[in-house]
Amino acid sequence: MSLNIKLNENYSSVKNNYLFSDIAKKVKTYSEAHPNAKIIRLGIGDVTLPLAPVVVNAIKNAADEMGKAETFRGYAPEYGYDFLREAVARYYDKFSVSLSASEIFISDGAKSDVGNIVDILGDNEILIPDPVYPVYLDSNLMSGRKVSFISGNQQNGFLPMPDGIPEKPYVIYICSPNNPTGAVYSRAQLKVWVDFALKTGSLIIFDSAYEAFISGDYSHSIYEINEARKCVVEICSFSKTAGFTGTRCAWSVFPDELIVGDKKLSALWSRRQATKFNGVPYVVQRAAEAALSDEGQAQCRQSVEYYIENARIIAELLTKKGISFTGGENSPYLWLKCPGGMKSWDFFDFLLENAQVVGTPGAGFGNAGEGYFRLTSFGSRESTLEAVSRLDKLL
Ligand code: PLP
Repeated sequence: MSLNIKLNENYSSVKNNYLFSDIAKKVKTYSEAHPNAKIIRLGIGDVTLPLAPVVVNAIKNAADEMGKAETFRGYAPEYGYDFLREAVARYYDKFSVSLSASEIFISDGAKSDVGNIVDILGDNEILIPDPVYPVYLDSNLMSGRKVSFISGNQQNGFLPMPDGIPEKPYVIYICSPNNPTGAVYSRAQLKVWVDFALKTGSLIIFDSAYEAFISGDYSHSIYEINEARKCVVEICSFSKTAGFTGTRCAWSVFPDELIVGDKKLSALWSRRQATKFNGVPYVVQRAAEAALSDEGQAQCRQSVEYYIENARIIAELLTKKGISFTGGENSPYLWLKCPGGMKSWDFFDFLLENAQVVGTPGAGFGNAGEGYFRLTSFGSRESTLEAVSRLDKLL
């Protein structure tokens, strides 16, 4: 029997995302045929190191509080506990960015915020880099928005700029350091984007999920750029910074200056969150607060440095082999051109069959990703070294 209701037809324009399930299927088929093969996964975008000790302690303490009548907490505030909003605001002091706690909205993930922000925006023209994190495109397609792509390619270092784009208002997504390319916008390039947004009355949604991997002279927050407060919502996460992919905590910044007509964007976001979201668990917010403490930042930094060293090891091999790539320095991702003009999936099969190394085909991140391949540094040192030694023999 079929129901007689109407569905959201926009979902038919969203491609089924078979990327990671196709990868899993191929790996499963291969390992069934070769039960002794030791497969190394350098495709995952998930962290592998455990939570920092100071974070684990905070979770235990908060769990104890939840177990006592005097300190038990029920629903958390929809926008986050003040202690965490304050801690995030203080975190920005490091970048000489001044934010007030009321401009910070705590959530259960950058994915949720990136996906949900579409709720408060009307039928705008959307600009999305290609290749990029697929949630920007899919969430807009689900809402029936018209999307245009700005192509990242070797010529622009996978950092598309607004040159030649008709000057009208857009909602523009920027991810820096980028997933999947690892490319990072310079301050000068970010300023060009901010100036473009100010001139055209556009909104930038800036995803800084990988800012903790920046070691060079790049902006960790787009608010380091003058006047960005007037045109940018910044979304950041504890996932990659503090290993919270399974713990779930993130934040979005809605500066007071973001205004459309007489409406503040933050007011609409508050309304949206208050209606559709019931807050992040107290225990998790205490854990996130601990990650932002001096001790927490030092401990989380050790994990990030471990991944960055893995990235350096992979980058060294690619350089030695003359394979062109971006990323790996200020990012956990390395984005390489498939050798010999191979297509992304052909290169995937080639690595799986000949080195038992699994990466992610670039074509899964957008049409401009065809012919490219993503490796990640989130594995263990041992498996990274082993993968590199296999690739050294193969490539
Ligand atoms: N933004 C980017 C660019 C990502 O790559 C990811 C996860 O891989 C996310 C956001 C999701 O972050 P979260 O775990 O906070 O939902």
